[in-house]
Formats: sequence, C-alpha cells, structure tokens
Amino acid sequence: MNLSRFSRVKLCHAPTPLEAMPNLTRLLDGPQLFVKRDDCTGLAGGGNKTRKLEFLVGDALAQGADTLITQGAVQSNHARQTAAAACKFGMACEILLERRVPGTAADYETTGNVLLDRLFGSSIGFRPGGTDMNAAGLELAEEIRARGGKPYFVPGGGSNRVGALGYVNCAVELIQQANDTGLRIDYLVHGTGSAGTQAGLVAGLEGCNSGIKVYGVSVRQPKDKQEEAVYRLASETAEYVGIKSGLARGSVVADGDYVGAGYGQPTAGTIEAIELAARHEGLLLDPVYSGKGMAGLIGLIRQGKFTKDQNIVFLHTGGSAALFAYQDALLA
Ligand SMILES: *Cc1c(COP(=O)(O)O)cnc(C)c1O
Repeated sequence: MNLSRFSRVKLCHAPTPLEAMPNLTRLLDGPQLFVKRDDCTGLAGGGNKTRKLEFLVGDALAQGADTLITQGAVQSNHARQTAAAACKFGMACEILLERRVPGTAADYETTGNVLLDRLFGSSIGFRPGGTDMNAAGLELAEEIRARGGKPYFVPGGGSNRVGALGYVNCAVELIQQANDTGLRIDYLVHGTGSAGTQAGLVAGLEGCNSGIKVYGVSVRQPKDKQEEAVYRLASETAEYVGIKSGLARGSVVADGDYVGAGYGQPTAGTIEAIELAARHEGLLLDPVYSGKGMAGLIGLIRQGKFTKDQNIVFLHTGGSAALFAYQDALLA
C-alpha cells in the first residue's frame, strides 16, 4: 500500500506505541488485551484526528488554502486538533460547534476542548442542535471566499476519503508492529463516530489481507446506520488508494449496543470503563468516544465473545480533554 503519492504534512508522532494491558487482562479474565496508543499522536493532547489531518492539511496546502474550516459537537476533539494544526502551518481556523448534546454541565461550552480551541486562537461560532453542519461549513467557506480568503473545508471528524488515508496508514503501521513483535492480532476494537477511522482501518487491513478484524463500537447511532456509513466511506477509500478487489460488506462491523441515550451522553458502562482503565492501567479515556469503545470491549468480554488465547487490541483514539466538561457525570 503506497500512500506517498498523496499530499501530506507531518503532524503525528508515529509509530504510536502498542502496549500490553496486563492488569485489565487479569481483571476481566478473558482474552489478552493490548492498546494502540493513538491518544499519543503528539498534536495538542493527541487523538485520532491527527492522522487524518496529515492528509487533509496536506491537501489544503496543495490547493493554496490559508484558512481551515471545520465543524463538530461543542466538545469536538477534531476541532481542537484542527485548530492546533492550523497554528502549526500558519493558517487561520474557523470552527462551527453544534449544540448537539442535551443536559450538559454549566461549563460545558467553556472548558475542555473549547478552552483549547480558544487558546489556539480559532474563531468559534455556535449553532443549534440539528443544524446541517456540513452545509453550514460550506456556507461559511463562501463568506470567507467573498472576503478574499482561501478556505479549505474539513468535514466533521475529518471523515472523507482524504482523512481516512490517515487510518489506512495506521493499519499499515499496526501490521508492521505485529510483524516486528510476532504478535498475532485477532481483533482491533474502537469507538466509531463519523466513520473515517474505521473506514480507513478496514480499507487498509483488508487491502493488506492482514486477517485482523475490525470491531467498531458505535457512539451515536444504531448498528445498521453506522455500518452503512462506514461501508460507504471504506469502499470509497479503498478505491482511492487503488485496492482493486472491492471490500466485502461483512468486513464492516459496528455494534450499536453501547450508544445509550445518544451522542455525548455517557452510560453507566461508559463511566465504569473510564474508571477501570484509569485505576488499573493508568489510562485516560473519555466520556464520548473511547469510554464507550472500552465499554463495548468489556461488554463483549463478559459475554464471552473472545477466547483466552485471542489477542485483542483496543485502539485508544484519545479524547481526554473532554473529561473536564463532564465532571458531574464522572464524580456522581
Ligand atoms: C472522533 C473521535 C472518534 C471517532 O472517530 P471517527 O473517525 O469519527 O469515527 C473516536 N475517539 C475520539 C476520541 C474521537 O475524537
């Protein structure tokens, strides 16, 4: 798989570590557990959007853009990492934040990722829940163009075929680590939202015929909708990188059982997962994505989905900045 023909900038500390989780393995008494530390990508607190932004910012600069526009929920990790990437390449950054989550804490719109967005000097506009945010972003791009700027619109979560290249690259990196250490990886488990992470992983792991199965844990919508979104983008990404065979629909699995009340609303299982990872492995998960992803992994282990001789890698996608916006839920 050759990604060198795509425009790209350097943002990510790679390879991110692949570590054992011996304490959680013992505690849960199931398969052998490992963690791929994409919370350690190195940009502004890290997280999975850094890998996507290497290709998105590369594309933006190749097109002569001077302003990055993106959108997300108020506590978007993607917005924070985009704001930081813009600073690094001397670009302006305009962020649209959707008030998507009901019943939030009093400081939800000022702390965590929003505080960091402001620290990076990005301009922020809030929009009501239910707004068509990608349409709003394209509208903002028109306004910026009209005043002489050169905007580049990054879709929500950086999830298009350009951003997904970052996770094709991660797939190649993980296979290399497996080869170097002799670790046979059976499953890669992670939280899936705007679909770019899983789409890139599936395209990369299937395209390389790795035998590693990806298991997405949906953080916002039911199984069938999430699988459809991932499959569509994975197929587009596979074609973009030149995988000839096409992807089997069965290579895309998203579990809808851990969403709870909806996006950005942690369940009791999410909070338990955050506490277990913190107290047994010293790992910081988050209440929106990685906590739900880990809750899914724990749930599957308890249901006996895996055998003890299987090796399961949890992809830690980052997000700990959002912990500060959820103090009430965590300390309840
Ligand atoms: C965005 C995000 C995800 C989900 O990745 P998608 O590519 O949007 O599916 C998972 N974890 C964290 C911490 C994120 O910020």
